[in-house]
Amino acid sequence: MSVVDEIKQRIDAVELIGSYVPLKKTGATYKGLCPFHSEKTPSFVVFPDSQSWHCFGACGTGGDIFTFVMRRENLDFAGALKLLAQRAGVELEPQSAGARVQAEHLERLRRINSLAAGYYHESLISSPEASSARRYLERRQLTDASLSAFQLGWAPDEWHHLESFLRSEGVSREEALEAGLLTANEAGNVYDRFRGRIMFPIRDLQGHIVGFGGRVLDDSQPKYLNSPQTPLFDKGRVLYGIDRAHRSIREGGTAIIVEGYMDVIAAHQCGATNVIACMGTALSEAHLDVLKRLCKTMVLALDADEAGLRAAERGAMAATE
Ligand code: ZN
Repeated sequence: MSVVDEIKQRIDAVELIGSYVPLKKTGATYKGLCPFHSEKTPSFVVFPDSQSWHCFGACGTGGDIFTFVMRRENLDFAGALKLLAQRAGVELEPQSAGARVQAEHLERLRRINSLAAGYYHESLISSPEASSARRYLERRQLTDASLSAFQLGWAPDEWHHLESFLRSEGVSREEALEAGLLTANEAGNVYDRFRGRIMFPIRDLQGHIVGFGGRVLDDSQPKYLNSPQTPLFDKGRVLYGIDRAHRSIREGGTAIIVEGYMDVIAAHQCGATNVIACMGTALSEAHLDVLKRLCKTMVLALDADEAGLRAAERGAMAATE
């Protein structure tokens, strides 16, 4: 999908134009006073179905969200693209050669994550060894639809399973290490980082898998193991569920922040699709940057223990700064 299409998919024309021009719903369209010529009777119409606008009055202009922003903000196409990309949370492809190499490298790492997620998911659904994981998820009352929507998985309790799978897909050991899926000990032996864990792929706003969280079934420690810091994964930046929640957060103007992966999935399963989680309990500046672009109200629904309360307090402080 082109960047322009991606932006159009993420930004609703009525919402965008409505933030510049007061619009009133009349039947299947929205009407307002044309911002491009002076008038007393509204002849400016926005069509939600085609995501376009047209002035039936003196100026007779029309177009899509790009032409609207170009005219209204007095920008050329590149300027409008930049502004709308930022509003949509879509990253523009960097242009320089070095940046392009970097972008391709990140794209390869995303592909590796996506291969791994497919492998883990398949293993959860069909491997006999994952039966205890499936029973656990059933006890937590997660539906099959949720398992597949969030692409939950199972990392077999083996040292080299994912490694062999990735090798068979032509992924180099170096890149699998860089993606944080493999790890090495002091002796230089390389092995699967996640073993015997329920796997939660963590996605960015655009839906790319940037990392994983893995949960054990028993009492072994750590209970949760996340991807390490990688070129894609920054714990202080990712919000679990944001790829599925951003639309309803924007529409409703509220984001609800909970503590865990399971809480997010359970909430979405019950229809509360504006629920997300941050890794650990700390809400960072980077999290707030993302959320402020989507909504005005953030509700922290953290555990009522001391850590949760402290995190809520810090989050509230950061949000008002
Ligand atoms: Zn007009």
